[in-house]
Parts: sequence; structure tokens; C-alpha cells
Amino acid sequence: MKFDLFQLKGQVAIVTGCNTGLGQGMAIALAEAGADVVGINQSAPEDTRQAVEALGRRFLDLRADMADIGRIPSLITQALALSGRIDILVNNAGIIRREDAIDFGERDWDEVIDVNLKSAFFLSQAMAKLCMAQGRGGKIINVASMLSFQGGIRVPSYTASKSGVMGLTKALANEWAAHGINVNAIAPGYMATNNTAALRADEARNAAITARIPSGRWGTPSDMAGPVVFLASQASDYVHGYTLAVDGGWLAR
Ligand code: NAP
Repeated sequence: MKFDLFQLKGQVAIVTGCNTGLGQGMAIALAEAGADVVGINQSAPEDTRQAVEALGRRFLDLRADMADIGRIPSLITQALALSGRIDILVNNAGIIRREDAIDFGERDWDEVIDVNLKSAFFLSQAMAKLCMAQGRGGKIINVASMLSFQGGIRVPSYTASKSGVMGLTKALANEWAAHGINVNAIAPGYMATNNTAALRADEARNAAITARIPSGRWGTPSDMAGPVVFLASQASDYVHGYTLAVDGGWLAR
């Protein structure tokens, strides 16, 4: 086994939503594997910057609301300023809105679709154009969910967005694999982050969820490390259009 297959030295990775949670875990993992990181957040990613720089890697802090796809061309230009190349894109920024489907409003629909799905598509499109111009392929990693496979309850726009992310991952892989661009996704299970704080605070729901996870625990941002480095590296060069569940076995039940 050649472990340098997982080496990302000299590469640049964009990670959206990396100031906390799973995005932070993935940004740090990519830096551990050797990549410099461009973070796109709304709020300050100070902890992530410090962790990446402590590993001897560079961190470029870009701020944007990913719902605004008009910002994408300038974000790509600014990201290129770091070292003139972008090799990896992780579409991680995501939000969730909870309400009974019968009462669900247009705003909660549009906001979730815009951040979780529309921005992932248009940022991937910009990345693919750049990869084609750079002529060395590239890696696009989307963040899906258990609700790419299941329906969920009271989160219709989230389920639609994450089911869309899994479909989009396959659609883009079909068009871009021939250009050496790998488009894949990671579907996290139940992970302990801000996104699930309310769920974990509800004792009954927390106990029911934990009992259903075969590994017997919620996931953590560091559980994303191996999968994201695999999908970002040469080790996955023949993997296209696949959504990898990182779920403690949840989908196996
Ligand atoms: P989180 O802790 O709430 O973090 C969400 C991240 O997205 C933050 O960095 C946030 O940055 C960023 N973000 C949100 N809206 C944005 C916007 N409009 N523009 C730019 N950045 C934005 O959530 P998480 O659990 O780490 O989730 C990360 C991803 O994993 C999401 O796509 C989520 O759907 C997915 N996921 C999570 C779980 C789970 O159990 N936690 C399970 C399956 C999938 P700002 O604070 O700067 O807005």
C-alpha cells in the first residue's frame, strides 16, 4: 500500500462553512494531509485558521453568504491569489429549518435550497471550469446527509436539498469524470455539531437516536477526516459520483 496516495502537499482546498463543526474538522484534516486551505464563511474562522497554521499550512479567510451566487467569480479569483491553483472543493456550508410540512413557508424553503443546493452547484461549476483550464483534474466533495436517503420529519427543504445534493453528485460526475474531475459526496450520519444541538438537548430524541446507531455514539468532526482526505486525494482517482455514508452504521439498520 502506497500511503503517499493520500498526500495533499502543495495543493489548495476550498472548504465552505469551516469556522465550526464538520467543515472545521474537514479543513483541519486536509491541512494535516498537506493542503493549504481557503475558508469561505460568514463569521470569523479564527479557531480553524489557528489550527491550520499550527500545522504549517496557509489559511486564506474569505467571507461570503453562499446563498449569493453572484459572489462566486470573485471568490474564485481571491482563492487563486493564495498560490495560483485550486485542487479541491468541499461544498460543506449548510443550514436546516424545522417546521411541519403543512405549515412550511417559502422563505424556509428558499433559504435552505439556496445555501445547501444552489450554491453547491454554481461553486462546483466554477471549480470545474477552473479545473478544465488548469488541465490537471480536481476533486469536488459535496456534503450530503442521511436525508439524501431517507425522508426525515419536519425538514422538507433540508431533505429536498440533500436528496438534490446526492443526485447532483452523480449528474456532475457523469459530465466531468472524463476531465479528471472526481465529484463525490460524504453523507454524515448524526454528528455532534451546532446543527444538531437542539436534537441532542432533547433527552428522549437523543437517547432514541443513540440507541439506533450501531456504533452506539454520535459522530464527531474528526470522523470526517479519513473520508474527506480519501476523496480529496489520488487514492480515490477512480471513484466518481459516489455518496459515502459516514454514519456509524445508521443506514445499515
Ligand atoms: P454547523 O455547525 O451549523 O455549521 C454550518 C456551517 O455552514 C458553518 O460554518 C456556517 O458558517 C456555514 N454556513 C451556513 N450558512 C452559510 C451561508 N449562507 N454562507 C456561508 N456559510 C454558511 O453544521 P454542521 O453540522 O457542521 O454541518 C456542516 C454540513 O454537514 C452541512 O451541510 C450539514 O447539512 C451537513 N450535515 C450535518 C449533519 C450533522 O449531524 N451535524 C448530518 C448530515 C449532514 P457561518 O457560521 O459563518 O454562517
